[in-house]
Amino acid sequence: LNRRLAAFGTTIFAEMSALAARTGSINLGQGFPDTDGPEEIREAAVRALREGRGNQYPPGPGVPELRTAIADHQLRRYGMAFDPDTEVLVTAGATEAIAASLLALLEPGDEVIALEPYYDSYAACVAMAGGVRVPVTLRPHEGRYVLDLDELRAAVTDRTRLILLNTPHNPTGTVVTREELAAVAALAVERDLLVVTDEVYEHLVFDDATHVPIATLPGMRERTVTIGSAGKTFSFTGWKVGWITAPPELTAAVRSAKQFLTYVSSGPFQYAVAEALRLPDSYFEGLRADLSAKRDLLSDGLAEAGFEVFRPAGTYFVTTDIRPFGESDGFAFCRALPERCGVVAIPNAVFYDDREQGAPFVRFAFCKKESVLQEAVSRLKGL
Ligand code: PMP
Ligand code: GLN
Repeated sequence: LNRRLAAFGTTIFAEMSALAARTGSINLGQGFPDTDGPEEIREAAVRALREGRGNQYPPGPGVPELRTAIADHQLRRYGMAFDPDTEVLVTAGATEAIAASLLALLEPGDEVIALEPYYDSYAACVAMAGGVRVPVTLRPHEGRYVLDLDELRAAVTDRTRLILLNTPHNPTGTVVTREELAAVAALAVERDLLVVTDEVYEHLVFDDATHVPIATLPGMRERTVTIGSAGKTFSFTGWKVGWITAPPELTAAVRSAKQFLTYVSSGPFQYAVAEALRLPDSYFEGLRADLSAKRDLLSDGLAEAGFEVFRPAGTYFVTTDIRPFGESDGFAFCRALPERCGVVAIPNAVFYDDREQGAPFVRFAFCKKESVLQEAVSRLKGL
């Protein structure tokens, strides 16, 4: 293994899911739903497969039906018009979209500003692309993780090439506000930076939080690559269908990298996701209502169990502070948790450059059946 990758070891999600399987614990670590997405969409995949749509290499940029559905979704949701032929690219999950964007857009030595704690693939992909990551840390303030705009501004140098955003934010559950985004946008325009924005949790926002794609802000459409995923929006994480929307030059650049990573993405599932994106608003509202209730169940339960809880405005993760238990090492806490009470969680420290900063924080996923969450809470109350 080369030096660029050696530092990253095995992803925490694989490690913790293996721990859950080995110990028979409730897995609130890796974020995947324990209920599959809509039956009619699964049927659409079966139909495509039976009818021989997509069983051989589909077109590199994605099947036209899906590219059109993605463009229509961006228009219907956010009022943004994208040309399905030149401004949409289907990828093998958001993971490939992140990798291909960074591989396509970075020169060796370019600096990338990423919100910290950051999703683990960002660091690895910046490294694979020969870039240098520059974290800007979200800090807890009055129960919410906030972006310090002065710190962000101070992080930009002459070597900065792009800002890698993520909202709704994994693992903190923060939804970056329109005001915060406007400041990021102003900075990007002023310093002529690209923005790659991971919006895979775009539909998972609660209460009065709204998801604002930064590409909708003035001056941003031409410099932004926006990433989405059917894994999160439709509860099909195993299908690995993701996408980007971006202006033609950026889309073409990312496509150049994608060609040599996977060439194309899985065929029949693309047709099914095209149908999913056309589901009525009631589907998206139902998903949100379901997850919002689960967020409450788990957040309240964790608080009752003694954790300090950062109630998330978005995503299906809740970050907690374990210091009320007199503990401050999230790694040790998560490694011991299966033995102590049969639950698996993720230590947020893995999402920090300076692991000390993230040490007391632990993330739990709530995209699980209500009965599973209830059982997890009752176990955690025994801590
Ligand atoms: N970005 C973030 C912030 C995520 O949480 C995930 C899913 N774990 C991904 C990207 C990857 O998405 P996909 O499964 O579509 O590759
Ligand atoms: N995105 C999911 C999470 O944050 C896991 C995805 C993965 O296993 N890479 O838990």
